[in-house]
Amino acid sequence: MLQLQRVSQRNASRAVARAARWRTARGYASSSSEPYDAIIIGGGPGGYVAAIKAAQQGLKTACIEKRGALGGTCLNVGCIPSKAMLNNSHMYHQAQHDMKRRGIDIDGVSLNLPVMLKAKDDAVTNLTKGVEHLFRQNKVDYFKGTASFASQNKLTVALNEGGETEIEGKNIIIATGSEVAPFPGGSIEIDEEQIVSSTGVLSLKEVPKKMVVIGGGIIGLEMSSVWSRLGSEVTVVEFLGAIGGAGIDEEISKQFQKSLTKQGLKFKLNTKVLAADKRDGKVYVKTEAAKGGKEEELEADVVLVAVGRRPVTTGLNLDKIGVEVDSKGRIVIDDQFTTSVPHIKCIGDVTFGPMLAHKAEEEGIAAVEYIKSGHGHVNYAAIPSVVYTHPEVAWVGKTEQDLKKEGVQYKVGKFPFAANSRAKTNLDTEGQVKFLAEKETDRILGVHIIGPNAGEMIAEAVLAVEYGASSEDVARTTHAHPTLSEAFKEAAMAAYDKPIHF
Ligand SMILES: Cc1cc2nc3c(=O)[nH]c(=O)nc-3n(C[C@H](O)[C@H](O)[C@H](O)COP(=O)(O)OP(=O)(O)OC[C@H]3O[C@@H](n4cnc5c(N)ncnc54)[C@H](O)[C@@H]3O)c2cc1C
Repeated sequence: MLQLQRVSQRNASRAVARAARWRTARGYASSSSEPYDAIIIGGGPGGYVAAIKAAQQGLKTACIEKRGALGGTCLNVGCIPSKAMLNNSHMYHQAQHDMKRRGIDIDGVSLNLPVMLKAKDDAVTNLTKGVEHLFRQNKVDYFKGTASFASQNKLTVALNEGGETEIEGKNIIIATGSEVAPFPGGSIEIDEEQIVSSTGVLSLKEVPKKMVVIGGGIIGLEMSSVWSRLGSEVTVVEFLGAIGGAGIDEEISKQFQKSLTKQGLKFKLNTKVLAADKRDGKVYVKTEAAKGGKEEELEADVVLVAVGRRPVTTGLNLDKIGVEVDSKGRIVIDDQFTTSVPHIKCIGDVTFGPMLAHKAEEEGIAAVEYIKSGHGHVNYAAIPSVVYTHPEVAWVGKTEQDLKKEGVQYKVGKFPFAANSRAKTNLDTEGQVKFLAEKETDRILGVHIIGPNAGEMIAEAVLAVEYGASSEDVARTTHAHPTLSEAFKEAAMAAYDKPIHF
């Protein structure tokens, strides 16, 4: 027994020494027994941005990540691989269905799925390595391993390559993110082959003939688009009466559903999934009306469960050090990202707010600024959402239904892409820009776009909301011609006066 303990201690100290050599060889700050000014647990968009910002502020910084690669959910199994598949499946779809009318004849278009998947994997590797490079450049100590609190200031890191080490921090930021939420009640088990999560759906080895997607939120719709363009017959089952998830404007959601239906997606709204059974190489999804009623069975080759994500706190020992967690598993913080322990902050998906990479990044920067100077800033009223389908959907601020509920008097200004010269030139005219402005002051309260490049265009709306602009401010700003952004300007003109081209 004693001998076994000695062997495992020897292994652990070898692993720590190897980790130190690894960091030194790559130009990382050498490890020391001095406490860190800031330790960040988790190397996702929240954690890695916080780590770089902390190092830039002159803090001695370490980041612990267990995945073996930086970038978190976003770079490894989220934003980036999904956008690679969306971009390339769109091109494939265009080559098949859209090029001819543009005078481009392409014969024999066919899908090479392994190459498409490799292009996605290459994008991921490129970007995760890029973050490692940024860590080296900024002298962030990178520990590849799983962190848990030994005390309020000390973290034990179980190193990926074996053994463990302990590091101490004057400040600690928890950025452990989120993971796929299982199907409620546990009646559907994810095997990542026939019944997949958002991770498995990014690596299907062949295009399923029939696919059922449980959940009509952003991730469900993006993945439905990808596999439908590649040839699947996709049915989306959604419990609510509308698609697009929380925060989407009802009018835009209806327009979006119409557009996706035209592309071949089928929708079953107000429908509850009860179970999914695997039989004879197929999956049978049992559903009934959300309000109860007759059961129905949908046959599929692959089922995607996209019902949401949940915060990751397991193994951190939060109860041992007194960090409070709410009933949904989210770490409780105040308006400066401080947990119930004053020198421990928390950011990103593991705490409140929308589960979005750019929200996590903003919080990472602000949390470090609070540590360094006592001041930070995140404007939760100006966080954009984007669905990267085609047409794209993007929004910021209030929806019409929000304003009605709040009893706010507002004006609406709309402009269709069908009346925009660039959209017409590009033969890509579906959608509209919709401005919502306060009736009395003309202040912009919300902007909702469905159309080409909506995800890029929303940045101007975010800036306008952030700076408290009026629709007249935007309408009187010169926008280059011919661009899609002229539709944005004209919707602003429509809100405060009249558009010119419609
Ligand atoms: C398919 C999909 C598509 C998405 N697309 C978009 C998009 O287009 N735009 C957008 O804004 N958002 C998108 N998201 C959401 C986005 O990925 C998350 O909001 C974002 O990654 C959250 O960042 P985070 O840093 O809080 O957490 P995460 O990215 O989840 O990172 C947390 C990291 O902490 C590590 N960790 C956890 N526990 C420990 C521990 N004890 N020790 C060490 N390390 C630990 C994890 O391994 C993980 O790498 C998408 C998500 C998915 C699943």
